[in-house]
Amino acid sequence: PARPVFMEQLPPGLQTISSIVAVSSCKGGVGKSTVAVNLAYTLAGMGARVGIFDADVYGPSLPTMVSPENRLLEMNPEKRSIIPTEYLGVKLVSFGFAGQGRAIMRGPMVSGVINQLLTTTEWGELDYLIIDMPPGTGDIQLTLCQVVPLTAAVIVTTPQKLAFIDVAKGVRMFSKLKVPCVAVVENMCHFDADGKRYYPFGRGSGAQVVQQFGIPHLFDLPIRPTLSASGDSGTPEVVTDPQGEVARTFQELGVCV
Ligand code: ADP
Repeated sequence: PARPVFMEQLPPGLQTISSIVAVSSCKGGVGKSTVAVNLAYTLAGMGARVGIFDADVYGPSLPTMVSPENRLLEMNPEKRSIIPTEYLGVKLVSFGFAGQGRAIMRGPMVSGVINQLLTTTEWGELDYLIIDMPPGTGDIQLTLCQVVPLTAAVIVTTPQKLAFIDVAKGVRMFSKLKVPCVAVVENMCHFDADGKRYYPFGRGSGAQVVQQFGIPHLFDLPIRPTLSASGDSGTPEVVTDPQGEVARTFQELGVCV
């Protein structure tokens, strides 16, 4: 199905959002959530009204990466809607804030639950909603992309040759859905030690991605202990070190979405 064109066709919960950006990866553990969260807090730091939707039912990362005081979503019983929790002014919804143990669900059920949670949330007026997509390009991802009118997609990958094939899958999925892939983030690209720069996974696949798929922007993120530590501590690195190298990269990415 084509994306909804008119505002009235959108699920009511999404009508007050200007841009919906998917942060996607084909594999788990490449840093997708790290990118989603740091991008969101960068945009908020630039003065935008931002929300994050963590669409990963099986392994939600948002509750680890940000630490709101209120760690449970609230229901509005009259409107039968969900009120997001909030940390440093960014609205947050994740299955990890839904309470109870996570249920065992099959694909179609997962899609239903994701779509319901996303579209019945009272997001209010937002400039950006960042969706931390579940990893992969299967049915759950496709259904989500069909319900939500995505403005742009950002693909996160690592520099290995194999990852190139994954990026191709991601680009194909979004192009089928007519969602522009505005940037690829090549994460864990290099690290610096003893005054030297090391590329543990090799180099060059990023440039190949840009060339082959015509994606306008490519960003490198280094392997940084602080990026991992801030993810575990509940405050994103762009908040703790707003002038740092990582923050500058995210500001450039923020301008692209
Ligand atoms: P995904 O969402 O793709 O599963 P995450 O963002 O949860 O990946 O990252 C997986 C782990 O790797 C987390 O512990 C995160 O802190 C860490 N990590 C991600 N990117 C980096 C990086 N550039 N440097 C150091 N650690 C990182």
